[in-house]
Amino acid sequence: MGELFFDACAPDDPLSIHYMNTNRADYAAWRSVLPNPVLDDVGVHSCRIASRLGTSETLARQNFDALLMLHSFPQLAALIEQMAHIDLWRLRAIERAVIGVEEDALEAVDREITRYLTPRYEGQHLPGATAIRNRVRKIVLELDPEAAERDEDESRRSLGFTPTSGGGAKMMGYLPADEAKTVHDSLKAIARKHDCSLVDALIKLVHEKVDVRVVLNIYSNADVGANADPDYMDGAGPLSPEAAARQAANVTSIRDLREGIAEQIVDAYVVPAAMAAYVRGRDGTCRGPGCSIPAANCDIDHRIPFDEGGLTTPANLHTLCRTCHNRKTDGVMKVIMDAQGADHWIFPDGSVVVTLPDGPIVWPGKRMLDGRWRQSWEERTMQRRALRREENRREHQEPRERSIA
Ligand SMILES: [Zn+2]
Repeated sequence: MGELFFDACAPDDPLSIHYMNTNRADYAAWRSVLPNPVLDDVGVHSCRIASRLGTSETLARQNFDALLMLHSFPQLAALIEQMAHIDLWRLRAIERAVIGVEEDALEAVDREITRYLTPRYEGQHLPGATAIRNRVRKIVLELDPEAAERDEDESRRSLGFTPTSGGGAKMMGYLPADEAKTVHDSLKAIARKHDCSLVDALIKLVHEKVDVRVVLNIYSNADVGANADPDYMDGAGPLSPEAAARQAANVTSIRDLREGIAEQIVDAYVVPAAMAAYVRGRDGTCRGPGCSIPAANCDIDHRIPFDEGGLTTPANLHTLCRTCHNRKTDGVMKVIMDAQGADHWIFPDGSVVVTLPDGPIVWPGKRMLDGRWRQSWEERTMQRRALRREENRREHQEPRERSIA
C-alpha cells in the first residue's frame, strides 16, 4: 500500500502542495512572533502583530491560543509538523474544543485527536473545522466530560425580534442544538401536513391548535435497559450530559441496533426503519466528499442500485443529501465502497476522494468477519489465523483429555 494522505495533501498535486506550503509558512510566521506566556500582554501583543500581519486582533489572539495549545498536545503537534495538513482555521477549532481539558486527561485526548487526524486511506477527505470541532468535542466528552464545550448557558437562550426598514422583521433564536432540532422538525412536520412554508407553520402553531408528532433518532452506546442517557442526536450531534438527560425523558421506544442489523439483508427496495436508523447512526452526515449535511436530512441511497442487483443491507446503503445524491444518480460522480464502510468517490478527472462514516455507531469491522457481504483481506487474514489457532488448540487438547480419561 502506498503512503496514506488526506485529499488536501496529495503528494503529487500542485494545489495540495500549495496548501501544505501555505500552512507551513503560516505556522512559521505566527510562531516567529509567539507571545511570551508570562511577560506579554494579550491585548497589546495581539494588536501589534495583527497590524503587521494584516489581520484582526481577535484572529491574532485565537491563532496564538491555538499554537500555544499545541505545547500540551505533543503527539498532535508532531503529526501536524510531519503532514502540514491542519491549517490555522482547523487548529483554532481544535483549540476551542480542548480549552478545558485537565492535566491528567491531556495524554488520552491528545492520542485520540491524533488518531482521528491521521489518514487511513490515500485521498481520504480532510474534515473541515466544524466536523473536527464536533469530533474533538465528542472525544473530550468521553475522556473529560467536565471539560467539554457546551452551550447550556441559559443566558445564551434567546429569541430576538428586529423590524427592518422594508416593513419586515427578523427573528433570530439561539438554543441548544437538541431543542432547536426538535422545534425545527416540528415546524417541518406541520409544514408537510398543511403543505405550507416553515414560516406559515410557525404562524399556524401560534394561532391554531395543531397536532404534531416528530420522530427523532437519539443514540446511546450503553447496554439496552441500562437506563443510561443517550449521547448523540441525529441532526444535533453529540449531546452534553444536560441535553442527554433532557432527551432521555422524551424516549418513547428503544431499538437495539447491535443485534444483527449490520449484516441483515432484506428482500425489498424499501429500507426498514431500524436499518435506516442504523445507517444514519453509522454515517452521521452525508457521505459525499466535503459535505456535512446531517444524516437526518439525507436520503438513504443504495450504493449499487437495487435494480442492478444491489442489496438492501447496511453495507450497500449510505446517507446522501439531495445534491450529492443527484451527482451520483446523474453519473457525474461514481462511488464504490469497501469492506470498512469507506466510500471511494471517483471524480470526472479520475481522482479519488475517500469519505468515512462519522456517526456515533462505529462501523463493526469485526462483525464483517461473519457477514455475507464483503470482507477485507486484513479481516480474511485475521479470520484464517483465528481458525488455525482454534483448530490447533482443539487438536492439542483432545489427546490430553483422552489421557486424563
Ligand atoms: Zn451531500
